[in-house]
Amino acid sequence: MCDCEEIDERDEDVIVSEILRFDEFSAFYSTERKPTKTEVPIKWIIKPSCKGFAAQGIDANGTDYIELRHNPKTREDAFLVAHEITHLIRKKIDKQYLNFSKVNDAILEKYTIDDMGEFASRLGSMFDDPIIDHFLKDKYGFNPEHHYTRVVIPDSIKNLNRGDARDELHRLNQAMFYAQYALQWDAIDNVGALRKWHNFKRLYQRQRPIAKRIGEDLYSMAKETGLDTLDKQKQLFNKIADKYSLNGIKLKDILYIE
Ligand SMILES: [Zn+2]
Repeated sequence: MCDCEEIDERDEDVIVSEILRFDEFSAFYSTERKPTKTEVPIKWIIKPSCKGFAAQGIDANGTDYIELRHNPKTREDAFLVAHEITHLIRKKIDKQYLNFSKVNDAILEKYTIDDMGEFASRLGSMFDDPIIDHFLKDKYGFNPEHHYTRVVIPDSIKNLNRGDARDELHRLNQAMFYAQYALQWDAIDNVGALRKWHNFKRLYQRQRPIAKRIGEDLYSMAKETGLDTLDKQKQLFNKIADKYSLNGIKLKDILYIE
């Protein structure tokens, strides 16, 4: 959610003004975004304190927004903007979006509703981010590996020395992050980038053996079931929710999908 004093709303034309010079973004923008502008209204916000460069969400009035740390400039920024736009198009037009409808109150004795919201959105990213990045790479020629090697891996390494989380929820979150990366890296064929990913995996194994084991399991389940349609995502959610639990309660009795 946005902190009001920081909100700096901008016009979409201003947001894309510097990144339309990249061929892949300009092709993406004219094919995917221009025709969907009325159906998928987006509020654009510049928020310098954003945790990552870009994020999307829905505000208190039900308006979809994309918040960015600054006005996008580089090729990598363009990739991240395209990624967030694709999230909203999948949600609004393709209806390919796993919706979590409610949380069982029993879990709220141990975790807050915000914890569970974050957990659900982690799960959503694990399902959607790999699909979106594959699509952007295959159809428009974006290079997600630049972002993975320059930002994702270094940022993750900084946090790794804390080891496996003791708390179950936090550990599952770590495992989902890991599974998501593994699924995202499946689309990458650049040898130099892949070497960095393999080194990262080794380091991960040393620092977080439990999250790595669960993460590999989630990854295998995702590969087996597939992620590219909402039906497969639902099947995958059901398998995960039947296998994993929190505080002794199976996930299927905690989180419900629509
Ligand atoms: Zn995403």
